[in-house]
Order: sequence, then structure tokens, then C-alpha cells
Amino acid sequence: ASGAGPEAPQVPRYVRVNVLKTCVDDVVEFFKRQGYSFLGRASSVEELKTLSGKKFLLDLHLPELLVFPPQTDFHENRLYTSGHIILQDKASCLPAFLLSPSAGSHVIDACAAPGNKTSHLAALLKNKGHIFAFDVDTKRLATMNTMLMRAGVTSFKLTQQDFLTVDPHDPKYSKVKYILLDPSCSGSGMVARLPLEEAVPSAERLQALAGFQRRVLSHALRFPAVQRLAYSTCSVRREENEDVVHAVLQEQGSAFRLVNAFPSWPCRGLATFPGAECCLRASPADTLTQGFFVAVLERCGEEAAVPS
Ligand code: SAM
Repeated sequence: ASGAGPEAPQVPRYVRVNVLKTCVDDVVEFFKRQGYSFLGRASSVEELKTLSGKKFLLDLHLPELLVFPPQTDFHENRLYTSGHIILQDKASCLPAFLLSPSAGSHVIDACAAPGNKTSHLAALLKNKGHIFAFDVDTKRLATMNTMLMRAGVTSFKLTQQDFLTVDPHDPKYSKVKYILLDPSCSGSGMVARLPLEEAVPSAERLQALAGFQRRVLSHALRFPAVQRLAYSTCSVRREENEDVVHAVLQEQGSAFRLVNAFPSWPCRGLATFPGAECCLRASPADTLTQGFFVAVLERCGEEAAVPS
């Protein structure tokens, strides 16, 4: 899979419909009234590449995602400022979609700010159940709080805390079955947004990030009731992706396995260990998204006993 670069196609403007506040049909009608032509559901990634002018499509992979031509700016749009739509890259919608928590369940978002994936989780939960969201960064948490309010998210608790210090055996978390883990990474998949010197992380920085990612993934798997976890990064480096997942799975023995998530997704994990093809990759060239990685892990065997 190729990353971004001067030859990579431009990524469209993806718009996730916030189903806590509205529905796809109403948003489509709104944009039609604003002079856009709706072309229906895309049938291929190629079709997304041909979008231009005031035309838009429904995405072929994700049910609540609309696709507009690259650089369409909706930051001032009424639907955005009122939280009816979320401006979120398609690849970044994959972790919550693939985690697929059932309505009413308890979920941890371990590295959550600024909260796009948290609001997506809340939409999938239909605002039922509970989301425990953590982040260390005060400023990002403040932005997140505003964003979640605007998006109509309820039933969540934001905590400023290093997730590595959250006690998995605290009774508060005894019903947490799902964890979304989107830790800090090199951001090497977001090349268009990074200065060139940062787009290629040094070996030392990669090693430090990978060490953190391994620790935080191991920690997340210590929550006693967790059944399913989505690990994601916006990095294209195997050190932060397949290598992290492989190392932690090995350390876990037979307790967790990789789920063959989204078999029809065209771009898979690098074949660095048996089963790595269960992971998903994304890139401007292959999936018309930012560079991204997602792995879904599942507890093997019986349902975990939920401590009383
Ligand atoms: N999931 C977020 C979203 O979709 O909007 C983006 C998360 S960003 C890739 C990673 C976040 O992890 C940053 O906000 C950073 O402050 C946070 N972080 C870094 N180290 C952490 C730690 N030890 N515990 C909790 N959060 C941490």
C-alpha cells in the first residue's frame, strides 16, 4: 500500500451524519436545498474520485457517511455548527464502526480527545449505556466537552487521567465490554497536515511511541470484562501498527485473537505475522482516505465473568 505523496489523489471531504440529532435522508435534503446534486450510493472507490463541483454521494462502505469533493469547506455550515454533521475522515470512522458496541453497553475510549470517535461511539450506542473517556490533555478535553455537548452526546464521563493509571479492577469498570484505543502516534498517515520533517519520524521517536502503544494496549486488555477492542493509529509505520498488535497478542497467549474485520475492505495489514491480514490499512492511494490502521481484538472462548 502506498502512503500519501505528491502523486497521491486528493482525499474527499467526508461528512458523518450525527444520527443522535438527525438522519441521512434529512441531511441529503438539506444539501439538495443548498444547491448540491445527490448522486446516490457510490459503487466503487473509483466513483468517489470522480466527484467534482456541487455533487455528493453516499459512501459505499459506511452507512452514515456522505462524500463531497476534496476541499469542500463546511466549517461555517449550519449543520456543522449545530452538531448535526461531524467532519471526520472516512478512515477515522472505522474504529467505532468496527468495534460495534451494542446499544446500552459500557465502553471505554482510552485516548479520546478531541472526541470525534467518542461521538461516533455515542451514536452507535444510541446514547444508551455509558462511555468512560480519558485523555491527559486539558486543552483537548475542553474542546472535546464542547464538541460532545454540541453533538448531543449524553451518558459519558470525561476524565483527565493517564489511562495507564486507570485501575482495571475498579468496580466502576466491571461492565466495560468494549474499548476503543486510539493512542498518540507519529501521525505519519496525515502527511498533508504535517511539516515534512515530522512526516518521517526518527527511529528514536518511533521506538518511544511504539513502547507507549504496546503498554497502553496491554493495559486495556487487563479490564476483566472486556470482550472486544479496536486499536487504531493515523500512522502508516508497521512499528506502531502490526508490530504493536503482534507483540501484545504474543504476550497475551491464547487470551485474545484478531478479528477478521470488514473482509470486503480492500487494503489489509502488512503480512508481517500470520493473521496480520485481519488488520485494516487505509491510504489516499488505496482507499481515498488519510493513512490509517485498525485492528480489532476479541477475547477468546467463554464470556468473561463480570465481577459482582
Ligand atoms: N480518539 C481521538 C479522536 O478521535 O478525536 C484522537 C486521539 S489522539 C490520536 C491521541 C490522544 O491520546 C491525544 O489527545 C493525547 O492527549 C492522548 N493521550 C496521550 N497519552 C495518553 C495517556 N497516557 N492516557 C490518556 N490519553 C493519552
